Amino acid sequence: MFGSLLIANRGEIACRIIRTARRMGLRCIAVYSDADARAPHVLLADEAHRLGPAPARESYLNVQALLEAAARSGAEAIHPGYGFLSENADFAEACGHAGLAFVGPPPAAIRAMGSKSEAKAIMEKAGVPLVPGYHGSDQAQDLLASEAQRIGYPVLIKASAGGGGKGMRVVERPEDFEAALGSAKREAAASFSDDRVLVEKYLTKPRHIELQVFADSQGNVLHLGERDCSIQRRHQKVIEEAPAPGMTPERRLEMGESAKAAAAAIGYLGAGTVEFIAEGDAFYFMEMNTRLQVEHPVTEMITGQDLVEWQLKVAAGEPLPLRQEEVRLTGHAFEVRLYAEDPARDFLPATGRLAHLRFPEESPHLRVDAGVREGDEISVHYDPMIAKLIVWDRTRAAALRRLAGALALTEVVGTTTNLAFLQRLAAHPAFAAAAFDTGFIARHGAELQPEAGMASDDVLALACLAELLARDEEARRAAAASSDPYSPWWATDGWRLNAGTHRRLIFDDGAGERAAVVHYLPDGLYEIELEGRSIQARAQLRDTREGGGGSFVGGRIEADLAGRRLVATAVWQGRQLTLMSDGQARRLTLFDQLAAGEADETKDDRLVAPMPGKVVQVLVEAGAEVTAGQPLIVLEAMKMEHTLSAPAEGRIAALRYAAGDLVEEGVELVEFAAAEVAGEVPA
Ligand code: ADP
Ligand code: ADP
Ligand code: MG
Repeated sequence: MFGSLLIANRGEIACRIIRTARRMGLRCIAVYSDADARAPHVLLADEAHRLGPAPARESYLNVQALLEAAARSGAEAIHPGYGFLSENADFAEACGHAGLAFVGPPPAAIRAMGSKSEAKAIMEKAGVPLVPGYHGSDQAQDLLASEAQRIGYPVLIKASAGGGGKGMRVVERPEDFEAALGSAKREAAASFSDDRVLVEKYLTKPRHIELQVFADSQGNVLHLGERDCSIQRRHQKVIEEAPAPGMTPERRLEMGESAKAAAAAIGYLGAGTVEFIAEGDAFYFMEMNTRLQVEHPVTEMITGQDLVEWQLKVAAGEPLPLRQEEVRLTGHAFEVRLYAEDPARDFLPATGRLAHLRFPEESPHLRVDAGVREGDEISVHYDPMIAKLIVWDRTRAAALRRLAGALALTEVVGTTTNLAFLQRLAAHPAFAAAAFDTGFIARHGAELQPEAGMASDDVLALACLAELLARDEEARRAAAASSDPYSPWWATDGWRLNAGTHRRLIFDDGAGERAAVVHYLPDGLYEIELEGRSIQARAQLRDTREGGGGSFVGGRIEADLAGRRLVATAVWQGRQLTLMSDGQARRLTLFDQLAAGEADETKDDRLVAPMPGKVVQVLVEAGAEVTAGQPLIVLEAMKMEHTLSAPAEGRIAALRYAAGDLVEEGVELVEFAAAEVAGEVPA
């Protein structure tokens, strides 16, 4: 075994690899971009080396900088993690030339599977079943269109070099083929510097089932069972589980043999995943990922094995720790991917500083793989995954209960996340019954969206208490810092703030304005009047939290509401309050009397960038008349394309940006004048 390992990655996977490597006694070397100088993976490692500026191209994808860091640190091996350079054969080769052990398969095996098209050709020869489709090298548009016709609609266009669901377009009708092809090719070129595509029959109710395979240099190949990753959005996994519901030992054997044949066909080494798409009794090869997979922990949970340890052993020339017949699958595991993204806006990636971040305590039943801490930034530069929660129990039903419990104890403030969405997914009866396919999220979309109804009286009362306690706390801090801490001017029992001993508070709960009047009674008791109802309350603030510069941002509120005890976590960001209690988060804005006069007059028709990114294409000209829904501009962020369409019939008054421009979130991209609606036209 080598003595030191450089981890050419960041975030949760870098942390996860370091943990195992450290346990095995290896010296761990981290690398980082300027954006990550104080990231958890850097602090966790024995030493860390700077690669370059924040953009991945200049840091985590910079082969030269990585090899220099390896040389400088005396690393003997390199683990690429997933994403970034993990499936880059040239990088694997360069590591070999530099005398470094690459923790992954040989470059030739990466190359063979690097192109989905070539992989399909190889699998065809090895007798592994394929989805009907076209994966030839001729990329003429007419040919692709006629192949699509031959395959039969709906079809799926995929980037040959693809990954992460990028460069993939479902096409329902021939007339949409050309536009979909253009957009898939653009996204593929931007993400993989390779715009070649393949076309496949689009299966409408399939499941994604993948096999974890492992091979060593002694010629042993085995599989560690399957994972079901059918719960997807944008063709990307959201919840994964092992084993796959409904899997029989016979079918596992059959799929396992196919997966092993795939690995053997390319002289595989180390960890790999063979992805199949299954419909009815049939299963077809989709692609092979020649690296550790994001969702590998569910396999670890049911096999009791550490896959990173296996990877390191194989890379060091040792044999696989088990033989196929020694592999035991026990119980059931789920993983959820907690993303900074907005499920209500088609899962658009989000950014922001994690003002507050809490996970439930880890146990044999719960594992939390996170690569960020409270205070860290989810930036536009990298993947927006915040953490993975992995649960295990004897049965699927019990594991699912654990999942719901773990999600309820997870708290994130500072960026939009899919947390509430995951909770609804985990609670959905059809999911509990394992009645799903890859279209589950699309089909149940509406039920899975968290509802933005009115805040309950409990939440409003807690919001009032949060505000009062925050004032108290701030007054206490100001007093402690002042020369006369006993001055009556620091008192917060209400008499000074208003003429009487009450305070009127107005919150916006997203559904509307909610008013409350709080009366200050003796002995720390409050009476909260809410729309005709009156509640006697008392509350205490515990575990107060500071933000940047030591300012107060919130804490845990222990409240007594008319004899009922409630606990909530409150986090303030300016006037915005996030209240988390009972597994639910609620955002409220405290109405500012002073700012009330200048309420913003944002027009609904403004076409603003929904995220920071790059304009890749402008599809209209200034002055053009457009119809409602007509695509106007294509924006790319986090390697994902997003098309903005006309909100209504109208005219393009002006174009603000051109292709290639970088834009901030919220800037107006196109000046749009909606057509005047008949009947509203002034005489
Ligand atoms: P990536 O490299 O992005 O992971 P995959 O080829 O593995 O690309 O496909 C990603 C997902 O897209 C799959 O998990 C599956 O849900 C869906 N998908 C892929 N091929 C098909 C197909 N032919 N029909 C229906 N869905 C598909
Ligand atoms: P998996 O099947 O394991 O989800 P994918 O092919 O979908 O694999 O993508 C691999 C994973 O790598 C993604 O889930 C994503 O989180 C991560 N990833 C992809 N591109 C990047 C990137 N540029 N930076 C960081 N992580 C990335
Ligand atoms: Mg895939």
